[in-house]
Order: sequence, then structure tokens, then C-alpha cells
Amino acid sequence: MNKTQEWINYEEKWCANNYNSLPVVLTKGKGEWLWDIEGKRYVDMMSAYSAVSLGHAHPRLLEVLINQAQNLAVVSRAFHSETLAPFFEKLCLLSGMDKALPMNTGVEAVETALKAARRYGYEKKAIPDGKAQIIVAKNNFHGRTISVISFSSEPEYKKHFGPFTPGFVEIPYGDSEALKKAITPHTCAFLIEAIQGEAGIVIPPVGWLKTCQEICNQHDVLFIIDEVQTGLARTGKMFAFEHENVKPDAIILGKALGGGILPLSVFLARKEVMDVFTPASHGSTFGGNPLAARIGLEVLTLIEKEELVERSKILGEKLLQNLKELKSPLVKDVRGKGLFIGVEINPNFLTARKVCEKLLENGVLSKETHDTVIRFAPPLNISNEGLDFAVSQFAKTMSFFEQNLKS
Ligand SMILES: *Cc1c(COP(=O)(O)O)cnc(C)c1O
Repeated sequence: MNKTQEWINYEEKWCANNYNSLPVVLTKGKGEWLWDIEGKRYVDMMSAYSAVSLGHAHPRLLEVLINQAQNLAVVSRAFHSETLAPFFEKLCLLSGMDKALPMNTGVEAVETALKAARRYGYEKKAIPDGKAQIIVAKNNFHGRTISVISFSSEPEYKKHFGPFTPGFVEIPYGDSEALKKAITPHTCAFLIEAIQGEAGIVIPPVGWLKTCQEICNQHDVLFIIDEVQTGLARTGKMFAFEHENVKPDAIILGKALGGGILPLSVFLARKEVMDVFTPASHGSTFGGNPLAARIGLEVLTLIEKEELVERSKILGEKLLQNLKELKSPLVKDVRGKGLFIGVEINPNFLTARKVCEKLLENGVLSKETHDTVIRFAPPLNISNEGLDFAVSQFAKTMSFFEQNLKS
């Protein structure tokens, strides 16, 4: 048995089986490159579901991490500390929001949004207590808590986890007529992803976000955008909603905000929305800790300094173009914005999983989403060498399958 299989068996013995991980054991990362325990090198086209946008082991982030950890890491918000205000000042100015609430994982910031929306409904819109409704989109992904899976359309995420949280109404993603029809006097918010990530990099029709904002404004329904995956330069804009020049009432961020080093998420909102929170109404032991806040500020600084919005846009266009030019008969569609690209495999021929397994052999790390889509979302500061390697190895992988089909 090789080393890789030994480590996989070891992990399987002690760890819950809730991920269908690809058979590789990683031990080292630098920039867009990862190494496994056998010493083989891979290009990271996954970036931990876009959490590692700045690449692995970024020297400046490590410096800030160590300095801050030596100074002060965690005290809880029972006390004030120095790193939160400068971080939130920068984040609010960048996003156009007034205030922020710190959490750790993406789903906690989504839960925070749900709480804010319901309170806003009861306290500012006089919805009768217990009756608030939040409209969501079909095929959404907002995380894994019981309340958040309550409005998932994915049976795998829900099976035998009920009873579920009520108060959610689903409409098709990209359908503004359905949104209009779904709004009632009890609707407090409409929650969506600017581009649906886990659904398979699904881009809404042009103008849809803008129309949604107008409909929501007309009915005093909070328009909340989950940018956990699409935010922070991933799609070639600082926030994906900027592709349509909309102004949401609240934004959810996570993943890349922690620099790929620690969990850090925030709920950002207009003042009137955030003011529904009062002492003791919500909180988190680790939320807003000095270490995470310091990293968060540095992440925002580095995104600007390394011009990652521009980079994501330019490299994304190049990658999309290169992938389209392959014209593989096994590929049904290539789509994306910035370095957030989905390649849809024709399910008549093979699964996305099979392709990801072969890509692994060929030195490219990616992961399928559902059965048909492979995601390409590398670190935003990926080198040209890394990008070209990914494209050539993908080409090699697809021609392998094309040969196989012929014979
Ligand atoms: C990943 C993700 C989440 C959940 O984030 P976790 O950190 O895994 O809890 C929420 N919303 C979107 C859009 C995501 O992609």
C-alpha cells in the first residue's frame, strides 16, 4: 500500500465520512501550488471553495498573523480591542454599507442575516410576530445549519434532518415575475447569491439583480446578497453585485475574507437594518476576535495592493477564452465571470467526478459541483505559468476521454 492510501485509511478510521474527498493527501502549499505526501505538485484550481484567493502561505499575511498572535489573539467581545474598527471602516467604505457584524463561518453570517431580516420585519414593518417570510431562490446554497438547509432545494442536504425551520418561500433563480408574485405583507427579505456557486456557477439574466432591487425597494423588502463565494474580487469586481451596479440593503461575506488562514465572516448592512441588534440579541465567542480582524484588514489591503479585481477580470477572461477554444465535444458549456468559472460536462458521456479524478492524476486540483460541473476558481494572484499549466492539463484530460469514447 502506498503512503497516500495509508493516510486515507487512517483518516477514514477516525473522521466522519461527510465528504467525498478526492484521493490525495496534501501537505504543503505555496501560492497556487500544492504538494502531496508523495512529493507530487498540483495547481490549485479550487482555492478551498474560493477561501484561498490570496494563495497559500502568503508571506505578508503570515507576517501579520504571527505579529498579531504574539500581541493579542482572542478576548471575546466582552471587551473592546483595537483591530475591529479599522477593519470594519475599510470594509464598509468598500461595500457601501454602514455597519458590520462579525462572525466566523459563512453560514453564521447567513443566520445573522436571517435574524436581522426577521427583526426588521417585526420592528420596522410591523409584521405580526412569528409570521415573517423570507424569499429565497431555487438551487441556492447558503450553508449547512438546520435553518439554512430548511430552504435548500437539495434533497441530499436535508434527508432525515427535519423538522425544518418555517418561514421561507422559494422562487426560481432569475425570475422577477415570480419575485413580484411571492411578496406578501409578511415578506421581510429576499436573499440570493449574486452568482449561484454550488448550483454550478449559474449567472442570472442580465439586469435581473437591478430589477430585484427595484421590486424589493417598492415593497420595503430587504434585498440581501450572499457574496460569501462571489465577493472580494472573485468575479472580476470587488463584489459580484457591482456587475449590475445595484445597492443591496445587506451583504454577507466569508470565505476569502479570512485570507485562507482562519474562518472570518461578516454581515454588513444599512444602519436601519443593523440597528435591530441590541446587546444580548446575538453574538459569537470568536466573532470579531483581534487576530481575525487584523487578518481581515490585511486581506482587503492586499486585494487592493495586488490589484486582484483587475487581475481576476483579465485572467478570468483569458481562462474562459482558453477553455472555450478547446471545443471538446464532451463539454456542454463554459461560463463564468472573473476567475469563477464552471465547465459543464455533457452527462451523456461522463460525470464531472470522473474528470476531476483524471485532472488529479494530471496535476490539477478541482472538485465537481453536482454531477456535471467542474469549477475553476484558482487563487486570484495565480501566475501565468500556473494558469497555462491548468489549461494544458485540462486539454490533455479531455482528449484522453475523447480517445476512450472513440475506441
Ligand atoms: C460556502 C458558502 C456559504 C457557507 O459558508 P461556510 O463557511 O461553509 O459556512 C454560504 N453562502 C455561500 C454562497 C457559500 O458559497
